[in-house]
Amino acid sequence: MTDIQHITITSPVHAPEEPLEHIHLSSPDVGPLEEQAVMAALKSGWIAPAGPDLNAFEAEVAQRVGVDHAVGLASGTAALHLGLLALGVGPGDVVVTTTLTFAATANAIVYTGAEPFFIDVDPTTGNMDPELLDIALHVLARANKRVGAVLPVDLFGKAADYTSIEEIAAKYDVPVLADAAEAVGARHAGKSVGSYADAAVFSFNGNKIMTTSGGGMLVTNRADVAEYVRYLSTQARQPVAHYEHTDIGYNYRLSNLLAALGRAQLERLDAMIARRRDIRNQYRQWSATKPGIEILGGATDQEDNCWLTPLVFDQSQHPVAVDVLIQTMAQHRIEARRIWKPMHLQPVFSDARSLLTGAAEELFANGVILPSGSNMTAPQLERVVGVLDAYLGGSGS
Ligand SMILES: *Cc1c(COP(=O)(O)O)cnc(C)c1O
Repeated sequence: MTDIQHITITSPVHAPEEPLEHIHLSSPDVGPLEEQAVMAALKSGWIAPAGPDLNAFEAEVAQRVGVDHAVGLASGTAALHLGLLALGVGPGDVVVTTTLTFAATANAIVYTGAEPFFIDVDPTTGNMDPELLDIALHVLARANKRVGAVLPVDLFGKAADYTSIEEIAAKYDVPVLADAAEAVGARHAGKSVGSYADAAVFSFNGNKIMTTSGGGMLVTNRADVAEYVRYLSTQARQPVAHYEHTDIGYNYRLSNLLAALGRAQLERLDAMIARRRDIRNQYRQWSATKPGIEILGGATDQEDNCWLTPLVFDQSQHPVAVDVLIQTMAQHRIEARRIWKPMHLQPVFSDARSLLTGAAEELFANGVILPSGSNMTAPQLERVVGVLDAYLGGSGS
């Protein structure tokens, strides 16, 4: 029997559990600059939706992107809706978009009374496959279907191939609206995303690369499009003293207070992109030692904003149960997510027409998005990589 008198306890048997911080996929990165900006706007008395911060925010975004016009709106979704209307999309039209996107892209098409036509993606980038676009537009033209617009998406902050897409759309005389909701600050062929296409849409939702808590913007070089979107966004009021309406309008304007927040975020945009790129590079270094694990978007990301970093597993080289990996990370209080579920697999769009290769389904089945927020700390990133390492077989395996 043990002599109980000789047992010394140097530390409590159960150390008090340190609650681990929750690491989010992409949480708003705001600080003193944003606080000051919002307080200043509040104190200025411009609480009504319009105001000087809204005008300045639009001018600053337009200048940064290199376009003539910007219209601040309540959300990226609202910007997509009005952008499509301004390009003349309406009932009976088809809008060709990518199947690998967030539902808002497809929903906005349906709001106009048009019908989405989903095409598949380039497996390396997850963005619209231009060759499929050409086939889709050819087939739709032969079927005498009016195509109202082409709607490419800049997935996870990598620009779609606008060089090819614009050329193909022009061949069929179809306007292009860019869903650049995820790609604020990204570039394509040396020019800012948002300066491509007839018009482009940004989102400033809380999880995006810069935020106004909720908000969006339409940017364009076309004065007619900007003017019509601005008009529709403020209840389609005719410029007369009494309320006079000849169109159905919307209440979609961005508020001055939120624009103040956006201006502060815009000042920090380059720093936030740099931090996300740094996180991307560290994941890239880690994955380089793991055959069969790639980062979606390919080897080049100099022009991307690196909004989110998704891993893609080649199951033949590196079998990974994606859902189990996500659950395991959740047990470690780390948020990871699947890549967007393709629209053609969504019950709500089960009747929509599509042109598919299986690329989007593959990415959905084999991809995991890692925490990518610009406010993630170095120890938090170490924790994420530690869990990945433990689950995916240690370094160098
Ligand atoms: C976030 C997002 C939207 C919608 O933007 P909101 O500001 O949330 O309305 C649209 N399309 C894509 C691809 C998005 O990621």
